[in-house]
Amino acid sequence: MSAAPNPPEKMMFQLALRRRGISDLTVLRTMEEIPREMFVEPADRDNAYRDSALGIACGQTISQPFVVAYMTEQLRLQKPHRVLEIGTGSGYQAAILSRLCRDVLTVERYRTLADTARTRLKKLGCDNVEVMLGDGFDLVTVTGTFDRVIVTAAMEQIPEALMDRLEPGGILIAPVGPHHGTQTLIRVIRTDTGFERKELVDVRFVPALPGIAREL
Ligand code: SAH
Repeated sequence: MSAAPNPPEKMMFQLALRRRGISDLTVLRTMEEIPREMFVEPADRDNAYRDSALGIACGQTISQPFVVAYMTEQLRLQKPHRVLEIGTGSGYQAAILSRLCRDVLTVERYRTLADTARTRLKKLGCDNVEVMLGDGFDLVTVTGTFDRVIVTAAMEQIPEALMDRLEPGGILIAPVGPHHGTQTLIRVIRTDTGFERKELVDVRFVPALPGIAREL
C-alpha cells in the first residue's frame, strides 16, 4: 500500500471541486476527510485524487469525485436524515453520506462489492451504514421510507416504487437515460401533492441491472 497522499494532492482535489462549482463547505470538508485511496483498486492509489471515475471489481466503477460531491450537495442533507443508496459499488459515496446524516442503507447487486464495501466502511468507523446485497428495482426486504434516495447507476426511468420510498419533502437524485451513453441527473422532490422533477447535469454511469448478480 502506498503512503497517504501528500497535502498538495489533496489541496488540488479541493480546488478542482470548488472550481467546478461545489460550494457547500460541509460537503467539501467531508470529501477531504474520507480517504478515496481506500476505495480504489491498489494499482490506482496514485490516481485516487484525480477527478475521474476508476474501474473497480465486477466491471463496475467508483464515480468521479465531482459527481459524488455534486450529487451529495444536491441532496441537501441534514443530520437527522435517513438515506437510501442504490449501487454501493466501492462504498465511497456511502462513506461521504454517512458523515452528513443519521443513517445510510446502501444496496448492491454484487456480493463481492457489498462485502468489500462493508469491510472498508467498518474500518473507517462509518457505523451508521448498512450494506445490503439486493436489487434496487425490487426492494422486497427493505421496509419504510427515506428522507433522501440516491441512485448511482443509470436507470432508463425512475421506478415508481423507488419514488414511493420518499418521505414528503424528500429528495431523490438519479442518473436517467440510456444504459450506454450519456444520462441526465434528475432531482425529484416529493411534495404534498405529488412529485416535482428537475433536470440537473449530464453524467455517465454504469447501468442499473435487475436482480442480484449471479456471478460473485
Ligand atoms: N456509488 C458507487 C459507484 C456506483 S457504480 C461508489 O461510490 O463507488 C454502480 C453500482 O450499482 C455498481 O456496483 C452496480 O453493481 C450497482 N447496481 C447496478 N444495478 C443495481 C441494482 N439493481 N441494485 C443494486 N445495485 C445495482
